[in-house]
Amino acid sequence: MARTDVTVLGAGIVGVSVALHLAKRGLSVALVDKAGIGEGTSYGNAGIIEGMTVFPQAFPGFGMLMRVALKQAPEANYHLMFLPQVAPWLWAFRQWSSPERLLETARTMRPFFAQAIPEHQALLNEAGAEKYLRRTGWLKLFRHDESFAANARERAVAKDFGISHQTLDAEGARQLEPSLAPVFRHAVFWDGVASISNPLAVTRAYAARFAALGGVTLPGDARTLHRSEGHWRVDTDAGHLDADQIVIALGPWAPDVLTPLGIDLPLGIKRGYHRHYTPQGNASLARPVLDADGGYVLAPMEQGIRLTTGAEFAPRDALPTPVQFDRLMPAATELFPLGGPVEKEPWMGSRPCFADSRPVIGRAPGQTGLWLAFGHGHWGLTLGPATGRLLAEMMTGATPFTDPAPYRAERFS
Ligand SMILES: Cc1cc2nc3c(=O)[nH]c(=O)nc-3n(C[C@H](O)[C@H](O)[C@H](O)COP(=O)(O)OP(=O)(O)OC[C@H]3O[C@@H](n4cnc5c(N)ncnc54)[C@H](O)[C@@H]3O)c2cc1C
Repeated sequence: MARTDVTVLGAGIVGVSVALHLAKRGLSVALVDKAGIGEGTSYGNAGIIEGMTVFPQAFPGFGMLMRVALKQAPEANYHLMFLPQVAPWLWAFRQWSSPERLLETARTMRPFFAQAIPEHQALLNEAGAEKYLRRTGWLKLFRHDESFAANARERAVAKDFGISHQTLDAEGARQLEPSLAPVFRHAVFWDGVASISNPLAVTRAYAARFAALGGVTLPGDARTLHRSEGHWRVDTDAGHLDADQIVIALGPWAPDVLTPLGIDLPLGIKRGYHRHYTPQGNASLARPVLDADGGYVLAPMEQGIRLTTGAEFAPRDALPTPVQFDRLMPAATELFPLGGPVEKEPWMGSRPCFADSRPVIGRAPGQTGLWLAFGHGHWGLTLGPATGRLLAEMMTGATPFTDPAPYRAERFS
């Protein structure tokens, strides 16, 4: 039987970042995952380190809601049978989408976001993986004057926060990205945003750095977690593993372990898809591009141009239903000369989302030595390394770089 100071359950970008930060502080740490490192939700994101983000995603207005209801919106899809189950979460999400609460979230989370790019930069340097980082910003495109006008509040708040951005017309945006067709009227260039050209490779590079510091990664099922002889025990493929402290970094699977322990947190799931396409001819992108009216992102990756979709409200483990591609492909191919798909089928992942758009980071209520780091929603890649630092500081009694109170699990009690 093996013994560590800390066992981190879940080797996505969040768990790997937590494990690495703990190992850097001299603790003996084991990382346990049932699959390969970084192969869960962290595999398939758009690679955007949204450190300059202002507002979280919001509940749609009436017009879009109607299009979603009629299954015409590229932005979102749902499984009808799932609606009763997800209704309380959607109601809470709607409450958190009022202008006042969006602003409150933006203000609350700003110090956390401000650290997102520096923390990635630091880990990328340590891991020798700087080649995956692009500091080329990202572009949000608006096809209609109305949607651009509706975005004015985000730009105004960004200005208040001192977040650099420029508004451009189509020609201005095409000077940055000449392969885009001028099918949009306005663009906002968020020049301080960074992005990653291969999220899987980055998570693996952080895990390799963790291993170089003496960290151990083991295959195992987190659902075997239980108390034994005064410790937390997990059954891994290498046998029992005991630890004084456990970190739950299981992303959308966190409830599988927490519910049996009596910890019920209102985690929602927004499924999302991606598929890579080869660009036609010499077409290329230097940065991720959001088609704000088309409901998708085009992100240049090592594997091709990654097209990512918005939200799908469906059971986490239900079979994929990638119908949003049919709705958004006409707009995407009109905007950028996408060639054929690289994979036979789209990839699917599940964003672990709380209705207030904040993750849970900190102690688990009512359980000694149990810590939580999950629920990063649309921002898990962005906030993974900053989360690792914050939780490691809390667990080792150091002064946290930002106030962890907004991320306490107790906010739901
Ligand atoms: C289409 C899409 C686009 C996105 N774009 C962005 C973006 O541009 N920027 C951004 O910041 N975020 C983005 N996100 C969100 C981001 O990818 C997630 O928030 C993030 O990956 C969550 O990381 P995690 O480590 O919490 O979870 P995961 O990566 O899912 O890791 C959880 C791990 O737990 C393991 N696990 C599960 N059950 C068990 C078990 N029983 N035993 C052991 N191990 C188990 C899994 O195998 C997995 O490795 C996007 C998400 C999607 C779906």
